[in-house]
Amino acid sequence: MRVLVLADVHANEEALRAVLAHARQHAVDAALCLGDVVGYGPRPVECIELLREARVLTVMGNHDRDAAGTSEAAPGTRASARLVLEWTRTVLRDEHRAWLLDLPRRAIPDDALVGVHGCYLNPSHITGYVTSTMMEANLRAILEAPDLPKVGLCGHTHQPNASWLTKTDEVVERTPTERVEWPASARAVLVNPGSVGQPRDRDPRASYAVLDVARRFVEVHRVPYAIERTIAALNQAGLPPELGERLKEGA
Ligand code: ZN
Repeated sequence: MRVLVLADVHANEEALRAVLAHARQHAVDAALCLGDVVGYGPRPVECIELLREARVLTVMGNHDRDAAGTSEAAPGTRASARLVLEWTRTVLRDEHRAWLLDLPRRAIPDDALVGVHGCYLNPSHITGYVTSTMMEANLRAILEAPDLPKVGLCGHTHQPNASWLTKTDEVVERTPTERVEWPASARAVLVNPGSVGQPRDRDPRASYAVLDVARRFVEVHRVPYAIERTIAALNQAGLPPELGERLKEGA
């Protein structure tokens, strides 16, 4: 099974359109979005509608949950993120709120593959950053869960990554700049496609991945898009200028 994997779109319509157009060159069996469709960006409604039209199987991210709900943002949420959250709530209509609230916490498009937004250490899967220090614990959580396929996907960090647990229980971690292949003997695999709409690895281009479970590889693609148009839309919506700066820096 070959799967198109998107994550952390963050209401960046320009980036999402560029990625969907770029991805047309790949023959895939399914498309998956690992959550955070909204938040930070100026086009939440458009991004929800694009993913629905393209029939992308989407899981819930923390920003999706917060934007669709009524509770306060979690303590520690940046002031800019909090402002965008309030603004996003004003532009979403009932149908968008219902769609966001209905998103599953995990998606299993194939019995060999599972996708979540955050991590594998808690049953909600919505929060928890799978950084290098958390990699081994997450790989073991996948390996030891009786109900989980052994190839896992996650988003949330906005950093592309491919890691696996070897047959001798070592963690191999790669930052995919193009194709990464894992060995047939890998006991568990974890892949992050990077972020479509707010990359944080100092490369401002939109990031997405194509993953082939049977042939055991992932390819991460980077796509330039009209960042200036997203920044203009941010300004038009009266959202904090620092969000545009982050897009330009890929931070
Ligand atoms: Zn995110």
